[in-house]
Amino acid sequence: MSEKEKSRIGVFVCHCGVNIGAVVNVPEVVEYAKTLPNVVHAEGNLYTCSSEGLSKMKEAIQKYQLTGAVVASCTPRTHEPLFRGACEEAGLNKYLFHMANIREHCSWVHPKEPQKATEKAKELVKMAVAKAALLEPQEEPEIAVQPTALVIGGGISGMSAAVSLANQKFKVHLVEKENELGGKLKELYKLYPTDCHTSDVLEEFVQAVRSNPNITVHASSTVEKSEGFIGNFKVTIDRKGKEEPLDVGTIIVATGADVLKPNGIYCYGQNNNVVTQLELEQLLKERKLGKPKNIVMIQCVGAREEKEGGRNYCSRICCAVAVKNALHIKELLSETEVSILYRDMQTYGREFEQQYEKARQNYVQFIRYDAENPPEVITCPDGKLTVKVHDILLNATFELDADLVVLSTPLVQREETKELSKILKVPLGADGFFLEAHVKLRPVDFATDGIFVCGTAHSPKTIAESIAQAYAAASRAGIPMALKRVRTEAITAFVNENICTGCGTCLKLCPYSAIQKDEHGVARVNDVLCKGCGVCAASCPEKAINMRHFSDKQVLAEATAALGGE
Ligand code: SF4
Ligand code: SF4
Repeated sequence: MSEKEKSRIGVFVCHCGVNIGAVVNVPEVVEYAKTLPNVVHAEGNLYTCSSEGLSKMKEAIQKYQLTGAVVASCTPRTHEPLFRGACEEAGLNKYLFHMANIREHCSWVHPKEPQKATEKAKELVKMAVAKAALLEPQEEPEIAVQPTALVIGGGISGMSAAVSLANQKFKVHLVEKENELGGKLKELYKLYPTDCHTSDVLEEFVQAVRSNPNITVHASSTVEKSEGFIGNFKVTIDRKGKEEPLDVGTIIVATGADVLKPNGIYCYGQNNNVVTQLELEQLLKERKLGKPKNIVMIQCVGAREEKEGGRNYCSRICCAVAVKNALHIKELLSETEVSILYRDMQTYGREFEQQYEKARQNYVQFIRYDAENPPEVITCPDGKLTVKVHDILLNATFELDADLVVLSTPLVQREETKELSKILKVPLGADGFFLEAHVKLRPVDFATDGIFVCGTAHSPKTIAESIAQAYAAASRAGIPMALKRVRTEAITAFVNENICTGCGTCLKLCPYSAIQKDEHGVARVNDVLCKGCGVCAASCPEKAINMRHFSDKQVLAEATAALGGE
């Protein structure tokens, strides 16, 4: 039987309103599609993704007994799941669906060449149809999910995530490396913008964790090993030299961050009267500030660096922290002069803006400096400090006496984060913080299913933002545990064991550690871990690896169609 007899392909060409239709001649593409081998039906739709468009697609699948469907429209990144769902509802295996992106690849990039854009759209449709004729149905394996979570980190984010999960009736193991919960919150004085004492908030959170029977706290413990996959992670934790195995279904990383100690910058480490904002908080908390007459705060110390390899990010919270501490000082010591030397005040949001206004009304002095010409901190022979700064708004240089210099330094990641990222096989970004799967579409997920991130382990953020993200991570982790089962990727690699020589190339290159050698020394892919990235298939010197849904035959059919072949 020829391909033509075997396959019955339907093509649906979308106008996307004017997005495609104003440039690409959609009716011409539809007529062209009807001439392609295996195509038994083609139609144009104003919006294929509308409920009307989807209904028409489902009707056509049933009416023409389609064995494959092609939608020529926008990006599969956002719309493929929707069209695949429609296929499934009409009784067509969703892996028998294929997409041609004639918006981003045609109308949007060639708006001034409608005829050429139309020709290109036809070619993309031809390629998609050629592949669709060779597609095979695929099944997504289902695996059971253990309804127990591991939360790594007992700071505000970890505690919030743990309580949220425990309240959803899941068992939670909360692992904290220190002997008590609280993380960085323990070191803070008061919280902005509400001005409540940190200890009050902390006590409430710790109490919520300790009193919840679903949460087991493992203090003074670290994660040493992790194997397995979503639903079935086998984690080993170490508590003072004693190992303990934990079986969990999901993992939330909430390990927090540290504040940069700017050794050698602005006399920090050389003069005891130069401190960080965090150290100032401790002085305030322990009532050890004394009665300084002048305090100078310097923003962006060791942050927003433009040099190569520098910390080029804004730590988001330092400006608000400086304003908060300046106001506390003014409240305690109204005679003390406080100056804040800044590059840009990043007091974003209504409450922080109000605090900033309040600081101005309370005579906190703000001086804007240029990164090219930063302030200078000079220790005088008598040990006193002077800060020289050029105000770029007044175009004047000032020398300010300072009994205390306070440096606003960014949150940074710890060395041990690298080790944890290796253990969990989740990535870090260039700034050292844990990197989410997609900044907009999957902001608290890692690319590895079943592992999530929240709080300052992910990026500098406020306490309120950390708590919100912790709840988001707990909700995401709760979904597979509530369902008790998950479907995993169907587009995976498989090894032809008759060809594999066991050279190990694929084992080393697989970014998800999805390949192991079996008892015969032959590579075997773990379908649950495999993400179908194709690295192994592309690199196997023996060509022993094939990809489901991207077989050589299917890819060659697309390429041949592009080159004008049948
Ligand atoms: Fe086998 Fe190819 Fe992997 Fe080498 S790279 S172990 S030949 S599958
Ligand atoms: Fe690993 Fe990618 Fe190959 Fe899957 S396709 S086994 S994730 S390299």
